[in-house]
Amino acid sequence: MAWVCNVCGYVEDEESPPSTCPVCGAPESDFAERFEDDEDSLLNSNDDDDMDDFEKDLFADYDE
Ligand SMILES: [Zn+2]
Repeated sequence: MAWVCNVCGYVEDEESPPSTCPVCGAPESDFAERFEDDEDSLLNSNDDDDMDDFEKDLFADYDE
């Protein structure tokens, strides 16, 4: 299952949405469930774990 942030488009590939978006800080209520067909095409286009770490590093840089 995947969840999409309605604010910035970030995708969380987990059973449940994050409490806050790691990219823009939007609350869990701003995440929408993504359908499996979309998830499949998404997984084919990138490796989620590497992208997550890259985005977190980017966000940490902005914070400092
Ligand atoms: Zn977001």
